Amino acid sequence: MLVERMRPHTSTIFAEMSALAVRTGAINLGQGFPDTDGPASLLDDAAANIRAGINQYPPGVGVAELRTAVAAHQRRFYGLEVDPDAVLVTTGATEAIASAVLALCEPGDEVVTFQPYYDSYAATIALAGAVLRPVPLRPPTFGFDPDELRAAFSARTRVVLVNTPHNPTGAVFDREQLTFIGELAAEHGAVVVTDEVYEHMVYDGRAHVPMATLPGMAERTLTISSVGKTFSVTGWKVGWVHGPAELVAAVRAVKQFLTYVSGAPFQPAIATALALPDSFYGQLAADLQRKRDLLSAGLRSAGFTVFDTAGTYFVVTDVRPLGYADGAEFCWSLPERVGVAAVPVSVFCADPELGRPLVRFAFCKRDEVLAAAVERLVAVRAPTG
Ligand code: PMP
Ligand code: GLN
Repeated sequence: MLVERMRPHTSTIFAEMSALAVRTGAINLGQGFPDTDGPASLLDDAAANIRAGINQYPPGVGVAELRTAVAAHQRRFYGLEVDPDAVLVTTGATEAIASAVLALCEPGDEVVTFQPYYDSYAATIALAGAVLRPVPLRPPTFGFDPDELRAAFSARTRVVLVNTPHNPTGAVFDREQLTFIGELAAEHGAVVVTDEVYEHMVYDGRAHVPMATLPGMAERTLTISSVGKTFSVTGWKVGWVHGPAELVAAVRAVKQFLTYVSGAPFQPAIATALALPDSFYGQLAADLQRKRDLLSAGLRSAGFTVFDTAGTYFVVTDVRPLGYADGAEFCWSLPERVGVAAVPVSVFCADPELGRPLVRFAFCKRDEVLAAAVERLVAVRAPTG
């Protein structure tokens, strides 16, 4: 029944692995969601809004307070001048990405993105009838080869979809890498769509650099983020996109027929939360950096090769030192064997070989949960002989 272009995309690894974790009682380090709530003030504000009757359709572009708050956030953290009228509120970053790709790509147009990639990218590009041009990010640094990136561009390149900080690898693109990507996009007349949902999860004193802050890039960039990660409310699904008026208008044309609107009581609450003091944002990154260190050290002592992660919720490992060749096989048996769930990186790759031995663990969990997982993972080595 299902249309051919969606047949490779019938299930998501996150749903499958979370279901397996529940079935086996495993600690779920697969799907990236925090196991603690975000700021109490945000939760209280949303609950109060529901009780106060803010429960009907908000404006199609999103409530004015939130659009203004997003603009203020971009000025405060990145010095970006954004007109609130050029901000469109969406149903999570996922809808913003899908609307952008559907709005900008004719069937057969090409989208350059890096692999491994967040799973919705490939499905969304397929929905649009567009063609995915994946460029490898390889361990240990998960940087790209400039020649491979250049070779992925063609006369049909319409969109470059860039995710930094990057899920699943934890890579954070620096100014030089972003400049190179931006120059290629400009050369080919492509629009850059950036997925910055992990913008506040960057570690070791590094800075997140939005593509739109680079010289000449604001005029060809759609910048996307969302509330799920920043405020630990991944189930709220409120996101936003901003950029040049014409591009945002195109995205809006599609978005209005996907969901029309969403999140009425959440939007004003999020507007208030975006203005939380620097200490909130600093604490979030410091807590996650500590969790990254805790889990990375535990995985190393269990025998994994662990790659450095500069941002996000995730750490990528290589399972070959444990006696396994295939990360997917490893992940399917892990909950049963040791009571921990993780996700294989190969499912995020157009060329599964690229991620074959790699496994992603999420560290956005309470310290005691991470410690318990590490204790279980000590038993992970493949039986020898
Ligand atoms: N992009 C990336 C890289 C992600 O990891 C996720 C998962 N949260 C999303 C987009 C989806 O964001 P949202 O929940 O706001 O739709
Ligand atoms: N972004 C989360 C992850 O990468 C999960 C999102 C989802 O379940 N679709 O783990």
